[in-house]
Amino acid sequence: MRFIVALFVCTVAGVSAAASAEACPGNPDALGTSRVLTVNPGEFTRLGTVQYKQTLPLKDHEVVLTFDDGPLPPYSDIILDTLASQCVKATYFLVGQMAHAYPSIVRRIYNEGHTIGTHSQHHPRAFELLSMQRVEREVDVGIDSVTAALGDAKALSPFFRLPGFGRTNAIERFLENKQLVTWSADVDTDDWWRGSTPGAIVKRAMRRLDAKGRGIILMHDIHRATAMALPILLKELKANGYHVVHVTAAGERPKSVPELMALPNTDGKVLLTVQTSDFSVTRQSHRIRKHSKSRHRAVHSYYPGGLSDDRMSALGQ
Ligand SMILES: [Zn+2]
Repeated sequence: MRFIVALFVCTVAGVSAAASAEACPGNPDALGTSRVLTVNPGEFTRLGTVQYKQTLPLKDHEVVLTFDDGPLPPYSDIILDTLASQCVKATYFLVGQMAHAYPSIVRRIYNEGHTIGTHSQHHPRAFELLSMQRVEREVDVGIDSVTAALGDAKALSPFFRLPGFGRTNAIERFLENKQLVTWSADVDTDDWWRGSTPGAIVKRAMRRLDAKGRGIILMHDIHRATAMALPILLKELKANGYHVVHVTAAGERPKSVPELMALPNTDGKVLLTVQTSDFSVTRQSHRIRKHSKSRHRAVHSYYPGGLSDDRMSALGQ
């Protein structure tokens, strides 16, 4: 009898070891993803204590990683590599025009198991000051662009993050009526701050996270410093006993979408164009930001939306 019990215990231990090795092939020490949390848009309308009372029902020391504003090579790719090496799943809020420019990265994000929501078409500045007509177009066109990049409307989750957290009651009502869950955050890493070193980003993120003990962490996958900070942050999360939760939306989603080749004449050409203008505006934005009173408005002044007055006029606004 004792032998049978011992055999049973060994078998269970063996299964469990095999399962964890399988969970992250090639990296037994990976941070990993501890569980999947399915969100029903009917139950949650607005999430994140930075702006709202309600947030995700996370347990102590559980975090959700989120990335805004991409995709943008090479940083989005580096970040995806890091997440894959640690078997960590995240939630992305993609900008429509960026998704249009880099559809192969959008599909990579999806096929590597991450959740994809949207973040408007052009990431306009001062979202809360736009006319509702403009807000609606930004949201709708952003969804259309990301859907087109994915090639399958079912691959997109009904999650939305307001550019610059620019909220009004009317905007929130509109999003709610569209059955979109509005995501704010619980822990803002401020990884976009000028001159932020990877070490400073991690320190700030961990300090703010420790103060709350859990939550939705906001980062941006378009910055070099963020790409460099992420491996350190994941190490710190593991060392401090945090667990990553992957959030999905209720409903059926395809297992994968067909991959796209990043052809030099398509993705590559757009890449060069967008990168050039993005970087030039990045420099410009630092000057704007310095004199801005509104932190969040300034944060996003250099984002894709901020850069493209020509694209705005293409929208007729
Ligand atoms: Zn943003």
